Amino acid sequence: MEQASIVIVGAGLSGLYAAHLLERLGVADVVLLEARDLVGGRIASAAAPAGDASAAGFDRFDLGPTWFWPEQQRELHRLVDELGLQRFAQYDEGDMLYERAPGEAPVRMRGYVSAPQSMRLVGGMNALTDALHDTLRGTRIVTGQTVRRLRNTADQVEVESVDGAGASTTWRAAHVLLALPPRLAAGGIVYEPALPAPLAREWASTATWMAPHAKYVAIYDEPFWRAQGLSGSARSGGGPLGEIHDASMPGGSAALFGFLGVPARTRQRLTDDVLLTHCRAQLTRLFGPRADAPRAEFIKDWSKDALTATPDDLDAGGDHGHARAAAPASGPWQGRLSAIASEWSPRFPGYVAGAIDAAELGVRAWQRQHHTANGG
Ligand SMILES: Cc1cc2nc3c(=O)[nH]c(=O)nc-3n(C[C@H](O)[C@H](O)[C@H](O)COP(=O)(O)OP(=O)(O)OC[C@H]3O[C@@H](n4cnc5c(N)ncnc54)[C@H](O)[C@@H]3O)c2cc1C
Repeated sequence: MEQASIVIVGAGLSGLYAAHLLERLGVADVVLLEARDLVGGRIASAAAPAGDASAAGFDRFDLGPTWFWPEQQRELHRLVDELGLQRFAQYDEGDMLYERAPGEAPVRMRGYVSAPQSMRLVGGMNALTDALHDTLRGTRIVTGQTVRRLRNTADQVEVESVDGAGASTTWRAAHVLLALPPRLAAGGIVYEPALPAPLAREWASTATWMAPHAKYVAIYDEPFWRAQGLSGSARSGGGPLGEIHDASMPGGSAALFGFLGVPARTRQRLTDDVLLTHCRAQLTRLFGPRADAPRAEFIKDWSKDALTATPDDLDAGGDHGHARAAAPASGPWQGRLSAIASEWSPRFPGYVAGAIDAAELGVRAWQRQHHTANGG
């Protein structure tokens, strides 16, 4: 049995940020367990195929989140500055294209600048998770460990995780921070004794933001659409992409990305190859023959990823889930467990900024409780 002071379940942004805050507080023996082989969670990217060596490392394209809004999201803005990350505005100069319905020719219209301005990070959103990861010195990060069971003993919590080969490990800790979407926290982990039923129901009914969605990215040598006075933005009722944007990386490759407009349930029956072919054909229809020859293309269907989505997410609408209670208010789990993934953020539920907000609230609550328990 492995001993820790705190176990964090999930190494997405919220888990990494909680570990960063705990290290800053001087907490030792923090263990961060992650089911995937990589940290970052919904923050994931595809690298451009090796081209200009000087762009290596930051020539990456977001398959998960792309934008943040510094004017509203002050803490995230501060963290981005503190970590020395560079940001830039979403490219939206020029006209946009609109396909009203299948078979109809695209119409060109004046584009608009989003307000507030959507910002991106050089190197993609993974620049943030990489930089946070790099700050961690003492946290023990163990990837490939899926947490299956939490057992509340008289004085500690036993956290049982399983690796890819099915071997299980038990970790003992005084407190557990759940940094995974509420639906996975409620349905993917067995609690002994059970969580209070209303809390478990609330978590299970909280939609995971963007879990039903899929993204397509096409990488090019040049942003050829800009030379035609186009911003790269398009809206389409024809599909398969419903919304398209310029995804070019300053100093790196040119790119376009789009959100699939085909519902998750329909996508379950289609292979990625079929979708790639149709997405490329749509970009060619909109932006001309050069769009037919991307240097690379990627598709990421989050609804097919069991470490983000559950079957309940297939039919979810576009609402930002809001899990109201982040910790049991009574019973044996009170003080032993708190939840910190983005959906628990009161201010920005589901957003990147929400992962920062919820993690900070969770660590502060733990600190208050720990201080009181130790007679502070
Ligand atoms: C396509 C897409 C586009 C988006 N666009 C934006 C955007 O532009 N702007 C914005 O603000 N937000 C956007 N978001 C939302 C943003 O990505 C999330 O709010 C944020 O990344 C959530 O971070 P998190 O740490 O709370 O959760 P997650 O990133 O989901 O992290 C949870 C972690 O827990 C792990 N895990 C799951 N189950 C277990 C288990 N049993 N044991 C161990 N580990 C487990 C997972 O593997 C994962 O690493 C988008 C999301 C998607 C998918």
